[in-house]
Amino acid sequence: MTMNTQGRPTAPGEPETSFRPKTFTGNRGLDMEEPLIFEIGRTDTTGVDLDEPAEFAPELGAHARSAPIGLPGLAEPEAMRHYVRLSRNNYAIDSGLYPLGSCTMKHNPRLNEKMARLPGFGDIHPLQPLSTVRGAVELLAELGDWLMELTGTAAIALSPKAGAHGELCGMMAIKAAHTAAGRDPKIVLVPDSAHGTNPATAALLGYRVVAVDARDDGTVDVAAVRAAIAAHAGDVAAIMLTNPNTCGLFERDIVAIAEAIHATDAYFYCDGANFNAIVGKARPGDLGIDAMHINLHKTFSTPHGGGGPGSGPVVLSQRLAPFSPLPFVRKTADGPVLVETEAGLEPGERPFGRMTAFHGQMGMFVRALAYMLSHGADGLKQASEDAVLNANYVRVGLQDLMSLPFGERPCMHEVLFDDTFLKDTGVTTLDFAKAMIDEGYHPMTMYFPLVVHGAMLIEPTESESRAALDLFVATLRDLVMSAKRGETERFTGAPYLAPRRRLDETRAARAPVLTWTPPAPAEVSPQAVE
Ligand SMILES: *Cc1c(COP(=O)(O)O)cnc(C)c1O
Repeated sequence: MTMNTQGRPTAPGEPETSFRPKTFTGNRGLDMEEPLIFEIGRTDTTGVDLDEPAEFAPELGAHARSAPIGLPGLAEPEAMRHYVRLSRNNYAIDSGLYPLGSCTMKHNPRLNEKMARLPGFGDIHPLQPLSTVRGAVELLAELGDWLMELTGTAAIALSPKAGAHGELCGMMAIKAAHTAAGRDPKIVLVPDSAHGTNPATAALLGYRVVAVDARDDGTVDVAAVRAAIAAHAGDVAAIMLTNPNTCGLFERDIVAIAEAIHATDAYFYCDGANFNAIVGKARPGDLGIDAMHINLHKTFSTPHGGGGPGSGPVVLSQRLAPFSPLPFVRKTADGPVLVETEAGLEPGERPFGRMTAFHGQMGMFVRALAYMLSHGADGLKQASEDAVLNANYVRVGLQDLMSLPFGERPCMHEVLFDDTFLKDTGVTTLDFAKAMIDEGYHPMTMYFPLVVHGAMLIEPTESESRAALDLFVATLRDLVMSAKRGETERFTGAPYLAPRRRLDETRAARAPVLTWTPPAPAEVSPQAVE
């Protein structure tokens, strides 16, 4: 590839030679084919030597196993290689740019990992007496304080284990508040650009979801919210609104929407998954929200997407604070204490119940706090600014070739394209995304949000350098021009260079094969590889 003096590409890579060896092993150079663990190794040649057990009277009766247990039989180096090879088929934020819109796939600083492994955090048990884990409780209190500070809110529930779980928690607090006031409203308003988890959460709690249309510019009109409230007078429990929204745009009527909601008995649930764009710039509490989940695994860089569990703390307004679930941290003169059961409640505290058996994702709390403290106030603000800058850099680098559904105006931390630019090329959004895999990129989010036809949502995050963005933009420009030149084969058969090609996704979803059937024992043949 030709590079300029800053190491940025100026022209596409050299064409490959057309000779492609068909290898004996099925491996492609250092990309190794890897069968299932049950298909390799043998239990009759590997295992552990154990002493014969002494005589004992089994108590399993008819449940005693008579057939072999069927575990894989691999020596340690074989087991090691198996998992390392599989891991090399995985795309991760640690291997390349991961522009999956709405997911904030940003770098997880290794300092976070180091902190999470400190024995005082990493080796504790949720059932340990509180007197032995006071430092961990302090950490919960401090993390909660900073999250409330950044969001301008009064209370926090740390225990939810993902964004969607946080939504459920916040909406349960809202439901509890209605019940406590003797109300039973039946409707939740959800804009049609919302993440699927919003209507799913409302429906799970028994609410009827009423969609609010977006206006032509992709944002929600306060007039539409007022009209929906009027059409269902007295029956609206809450609105669930994402800000910045899933089109990557700031909801500019948000304060008026909050006022319209609060003019009734309803509450404002904000989906805070996109908080990354506004940390240190705007406090959702000041905008009038009553509850919002924060995806620590997005905004605060803790691992996700196969890299670790999520964590979705929920911040609550003063009105909802009494209903915050157990456990929660209470400040006392002797430092923070954890209130774990109803026996520990004080007057006015009316938790709706609990979301988890224990306290939430401790390891993620440590990572998130390490991230916050190492950035400081100015660093967190700059991270948001850089996230927005990077998305706009990508937008400007592509807007002459790819189509923007809402015009050439600034976006927040992610940029939304639609498939108009592929019209008459014979290439679909899916084909385009698959061709990105051949170029070594994880595709962007496709076909979401649903309000835009053939949506392609790109979120580069702040952790990408300008050089990395230049290469990404140059690659997409090359793909677009190739599609427009009619080189459809590059797309419709893509990916050509991935360990697996196009999978039958429909069949995988409709007729999943969830069990493994052992092959006939006699056959010991080398792996047949397509
Ligand atoms: C990621 C996301 C969610 C759900 O979060 P999970 O942690 O995946 O459950 C909800 N809403 C939006 C807008 C999101 O981007």
